[in-house]
Amino acid sequence: MQVPLLDLTAQFAPIRSDVLRAIEAVCDSQRFINGPVVEGFERALADRVGVAHAVGMSSGTDAILAGLMAAGVGPGDDVVTPTYSFFATAGCVWRLGARPVLADVDPATLNLTVDHVAAVITPKTKAIIPVHLYGQLAEMAPIMALAASRGVVVIEDACQAIDAAEGAAHAGAIGTMGAFSFFPSKNLGGFGDGGLATTNDDALAQRLRLLRGHGAHTRYHHEIVGGNFRLDALQAAVLHAKLPHLDGWTSRRRSNAARYRWLFAEAAARAGITIAAPAEGPTPDGTMSLPVERPGVYHVYNQFVVRLGRRDAVKAHLTGAGVGCEVYYPVPFHLQQCFASLGYQRGAFPVAEAAAGDSLALPIYPELTEAQQRYVVDAVLAGMTLTPAVADATR
Ligand SMILES: *Cc1c(COP(=O)(O)O)cnc(C)c1O
Repeated sequence: MQVPLLDLTAQFAPIRSDVLRAIEAVCDSQRFINGPVVEGFERALADRVGVAHAVGMSSGTDAILAGLMAAGVGPGDDVVTPTYSFFATAGCVWRLGARPVLADVDPATLNLTVDHVAAVITPKTKAIIPVHLYGQLAEMAPIMALAASRGVVVIEDACQAIDAAEGAAHAGAIGTMGAFSFFPSKNLGGFGDGGLATTNDDALAQRLRLLRGHGAHTRYHHEIVGGNFRLDALQAAVLHAKLPHLDGWTSRRRSNAARYRWLFAEAAARAGITIAAPAEGPTPDGTMSLPVERPGVYHVYNQFVVRLGRRDAVKAHLTGAGVGCEVYYPVPFHLQQCFASLGYQRGAFPVAEAAAGDSLALPIYPELTEAQQRYVVDAVLAGMTLTPAVADATR
């Protein structure tokens, strides 16, 4: 059996004619930049997230970058980000000449908490970027309270978290601004790159719109220096056509996650593997942990990430068994070569370092079948119970 990490072909087949019709309409209009298709998608997303303004962007990365630019972040400023995320979260800070101030993450959720922020915040901190990793909201209320008391802007990196929520609060509607990505592997994926920034602040929305078009409201009259951060009309058309299906896709991701939980519970006992709560340090051999949902959150499972002993051997075994899997993320920011001048040492953020060494994302996409999930579970447990000598030989 083959189980890819993500099967976009399976998603496309049933919606093919709807999506192609939306693309055709844009082609017939020959209106590829800005215009009603982009505006219609922005309105739909603003309503869905529950914010006043949604501004289409060329990528999630550019949504974060434009958000930081709108907040006036630049040289001399500090921006707090978790050390464990996709590179863009800290890369955007660096590109503006500001300093990424890194923080460790909670062992249960791998998200930033207010305590982690409080431990590293400085008088120069201008913004905080909590990441809703794998599709689960970071605990925002205390972070927002700390930010308010310090006069600091909060940009939610909601790139993996469209529709994620805590109670009535949706990802991207809690911070000063939110950043979404429509990279094809995200829960709502385009046919290429795309992104979106959200805010309830009229002035910031105005500034985001200005920034995405080189800082000019009137062509060739530049009020500020921006960039070309626009969302293509073709991408907006594809995304808007896919949008009505997102609820169903997300609930299938969630039921797949629930099914993994009982399949693992059942099979691990038989295989002699211990399922434990994630700890501060590396997961020992013979032990694995499953994703932890904070009470009251609606996790959208962009990724289903388990942590396990002898991860690299298990990964090799899965690959050999035809199961797609990936490490998100093998190197925390503080150990990235490009950030060496920030001066962080190995050992600085033990939780992130442990997660980098023992986490593994398994297939969770909506079209996954129970038979495929059973195959994945069996392959993971077989990989974990290989004799050490065999396992080491596969490293
Ligand atoms: C995907 C992602 C981004 C960047 O989005 P792009 O659209 O690929 O630029 C940023 N942060 C996180 C956490 C992401 O997962």
